[in-house]
Amino acid sequence: MFTDTHTHMNAEQFDEDRDEAIKRAYDAGVTRIVNIGFNRETIPTSIALAEKYPFVYSAVGWHPQDAKDMRPGDLEWIEELCKHEKVVAIGEIGLDYYWDTSPKDVQNRVFREQIRLARKLGMPIVIHNRDAHRDVVEVLKEERAAEVGGIMHCFSGSWETARQCLDMNFYISFGGPVTFKNAKQPKEVLAQVPIDRLLIETDAPYLTPHPYRGKRNETAYVRLVAETAAEIRGLSLEELAQVTTENAVRLLGLK
Ligand SMILES: [Zn+2]
Repeated sequence: MFTDTHTHMNAEQFDEDRDEAIKRAYDAGVTRIVNIGFNRETIPTSIALAEKYPFVYSAVGWHPQDAKDMRPGDLEWIEELCKHEKVVAIGEIGLDYYWDTSPKDVQNRVFREQIRLARKLGMPIVIHNRDAHRDVVEVLKEERAAEVGGIMHCFSGSWETARQCLDMNFYISFGGPVTFKNAKQPKEVLAQVPIDRLLIETDAPYLTPHPYRGKRNETAYVRLVAETAAEIRGLSLEELAQVTTENAVRLLGLK
């Protein structure tokens, strides 16, 4: 009944127990998983996971932190992989001014190239935005990302930023941080997002929800995000699960 729209179950943190962790997710009621491959190493392993499990899908894109490693031919590689029947979006792509591991101008160029590719292919995009709200919105506008829309992953911005993204046909996705007691702004934004644009995710193995904060995250914990979201929206857990799954199915064409 739950859909985790953003996870990295192909990450090395799951090398010891990947199949068990995916089974735990299934047993916890997660019926659809979108796994994200974001660089030369993780794109092939993400697709392999989607090929192994009928309920796992993949997004493929070049992460802003790895922007400096993108070489000629990599964009064409991503374009080719987008023909794969289990690849449902381009991402995660965007800007990361927190880690700043790639120069901002390189991040910006790689972000724009992939939005153009998404428009060419008619694929939705998954946006990574860390401490770059203003520039992300500006690039999305300038590159006419509204033509394809997509997902603002683990949204951490203000309502004003959320509103601009909603206007450009984006869905707003919330992860573990919204479960933290002091997460005032994410909770306020979650309360206001139109219900037909709301998504949930884990970003496992990162951003672990309360009460497991500090431990490894995994897709089964999307239920904890769903519980928080249901409480804020005044819905039952089942209603919240159903509407967010319907949203993900509609946007990404999941089965
Ligand atoms: Zn991610």
